[in-house]
Amino acid sequence: MSFSNIMDSNSYQGGQRDDPLIAARDRVLGPAYRLFYDNPVHLVRGLGTKLFDADGNDYLDAYNNVASVGHCHPHVIDSVTRQLSTLNTHTRYLHDGIVDYSQRLLATFPDLEQSSSYQVMYACTGSEVNDLALRVAAMHTGATGVIVTHEAYHGNTEAVTAISPSIGGRTSLGCHVRTVSPQLERAEIAAAITDLQDSGFGVSALIVDTIFSSDGIYPDPLVLAPAVAAVRAAGGVLIADEVQPGFGRTGAGMWGFTRHGVVPDLVTMGKPMANGLPVAAMAARGDVLAGFATGVPYFNTFGGNPVSMAAAAAVLDVIERERLIANAATVGADLRAEVARLAADHPRIGQVRGAGLYLGVEVLDDVGLPDRATARWIVNAMRERRVLISVCGGDGNVLKIRPPMVFSMSDVDRFIAELGEVLASLAQ
Ligand code: PMP
Repeated sequence: MSFSNIMDSNSYQGGQRDDPLIAARDRVLGPAYRLFYDNPVHLVRGLGTKLFDADGNDYLDAYNNVASVGHCHPHVIDSVTRQLSTLNTHTRYLHDGIVDYSQRLLATFPDLEQSSSYQVMYACTGSEVNDLALRVAAMHTGATGVIVTHEAYHGNTEAVTAISPSIGGRTSLGCHVRTVSPQLERAEIAAAITDLQDSGFGVSALIVDTIFSSDGIYPDPLVLAPAVAAVRAAGGVLIADEVQPGFGRTGAGMWGFTRHGVVPDLVTMGKPMANGLPVAAMAARGDVLAGFATGVPYFNTFGGNPVSMAAAAAVLDVIERERLIANAATVGADLRAEVARLAADHPRIGQVRGAGLYLGVEVLDDVGLPDRATARWIVNAMRERRVLISVCGGDGNVLKIRPPMVFSMSDVDRFIAELGEVLASLAQ
């Protein structure tokens, strides 16, 4: 199936509703844009884990990982405002902000020999840094073949669209791309490697989202290490796409790759990095980066500017001060246990998977097969109860629960009370 889960499983498409804002939006933005929910949400304000509509109704945000330290966090607002009212230029002038931040960021990475220690480059989106990582990998390996998972999403430039099978629609995979399941079975990896070699592309990179988000959220089992060994033996590198699991979401350290016990050659990160400002980065081992960095000048007008760095530094401050990685671990474990308890009474709920504050909950039909329609129904029913979630996975049947990392035990209580009601009405 060309599943297009990102685009279509939980989206309202224009032209069906008599709402002047939707009509105006459709007119000016055109048909590529989608909205969440059959009854789209119109928000005007956010605070912590809550979002508010114009009537002052509060919605519990159990979906947004961008505002990962909480919507409108005062420390981020202060830092950004201060920097914005002082100076905002670009990386061709000396500035402390980018150096201080880079030192802090790289201190969260594995220790390597000095000759290969990580270096970091900045951009504004996850798509851009994945695009950059592909260029760096190709330059280093002399190969262009890329291995991705069946339902991977790595962004929206031409190069990363070609390695993002989940987009579907009229896009197609590059001829230099081979797909494997998120279980990264040994035989699949071996076949992909052989095929890329036989086709003349060679093996440049295995790129994976280390929690396999768009594949349906598969934090376990920890399958990455043997696949990486096979790819490296074929001359390729590992690009860990941390756009989703990075910055502490899994509750097990800053990075999703740590859980897998691997040391990536390249790491890309974005979304939660600056709590909503467009900040993204690619870290690479110095020896892997060298071929590109010494041969190709790099400039990104906005990437790494003083305001972006102030926002990103403030996010690290909050993660540390509010112990958000530990919070993701404890509150995430509680949320998962409570969802599993509800699931135990519902034959239509299958596996409850998760790490930290990233949960995937399978919705099944009465013979145990993936049930996209019911998953969508649950998401819309939760929205009517003012709890925001979504779906993912190749069959569009996995509830995607990924709240800001300041989610509290009382947020869990509210979430579980509403999910319990929704599942009870499903059972009737
Ligand atoms: N990689 C992954 C795993 C993602 O989930 C996304 C965004 N959903 C991207 C890359 C692209 O990031 P951006 O939208 O910032 O370009």
